Amino acid sequence: MQTVIRVEKLSKTFHHNKALHAVDLTVQQGEMVALLGPSGSGKSTLLRHLSGLITCDKTSESHVELLGNTVQRAGRLASDIRKSRAQTGYIFQQFNLVNRLTVLENVLIGALGSTPFWRTCLRWFAPKQKQEALQALTRVGMAHFAHQRVSTLSGGQQQRVAIARALMQKAKIILADEPIASLDPESARIVMETLRDINQKDGITIVVTLHQVDYALRYCERIVALRQGHVFFDGASHQFDNDRFDHLYRSINRVE
Ligand code: ADP
Ligand code: MG
Repeated sequence: MQTVIRVEKLSKTFHHNKALHAVDLTVQQGEMVALLGPSGSGKSTLLRHLSGLITCDKTSESHVELLGNTVQRAGRLASDIRKSRAQTGYIFQQFNLVNRLTVLENVLIGALGSTPFWRTCLRWFAPKQKQEALQALTRVGMAHFAHQRVSTLSGGQQQRVAIARALMQKAKIILADEPIASLDPESARIVMETLRDINQKDGITIVVTLHQVDYALRYCERIVALRQGHVFFDGASHQFDNDRFDHLYRSINRVE
């Protein structure tokens, strides 16, 4: 099996607040991993290091590698970070789509990479690419919304469009930061099932941060649990001692 994410001794300090303490994490191709932990435990910080949105401590021996390419090391971003970014799809709690564009146009953006000229490029898409975008929307059950503006969709529907965009991008990895935190239970279920479906059928590696233990146990085979910037559990979800951590999780984030 191929290692697609390798994090070694990742440390991050914000002012005097140590958010991550020498975190190690290795993810193999095709895994769907829940990054679990209460609010403030460092989940988003870890995910943002994977995409190079923030840099680790300069003084640390931290090293982050995605798909065999270094993303950052000891506080410095790699110069060829675009290579790994191009193959990584991002999904955030706050539906990061372009509201004024249609669903189809948002998915087509996935085929553009990080060009600053995407507005112009959108007009020049070949019918083949539009067809591909429609197929991606079909995969997530959103094809009949293709020509609607994103602003008219519910939160759960927007997350499914974001997943279709990652499919269009041909992402090898999806990093999803609290994708269901703003959703009602039914929409959360559909989004998690959609993520699991593309993980199983397309072999896309998924790391999803969650603060609800129930969803992690139900949808992910592996759980990496963080507490105050330390990994305190990394293993199969069926080995996750729910009772032991019950107090920690349920008292902070109860699933309705
Ligand atoms: P989680 O996603 O698990 O809720 P975060 O990764 O957002 O946790 O935060 C971990 C810790 O780092 C928290 O103590 C938070 O206050 C701190 N933190 C995160 N981002 C910043 C930032 N940009 N500036 C200062 N402190 C931050
Ligand atoms: Mg967070």
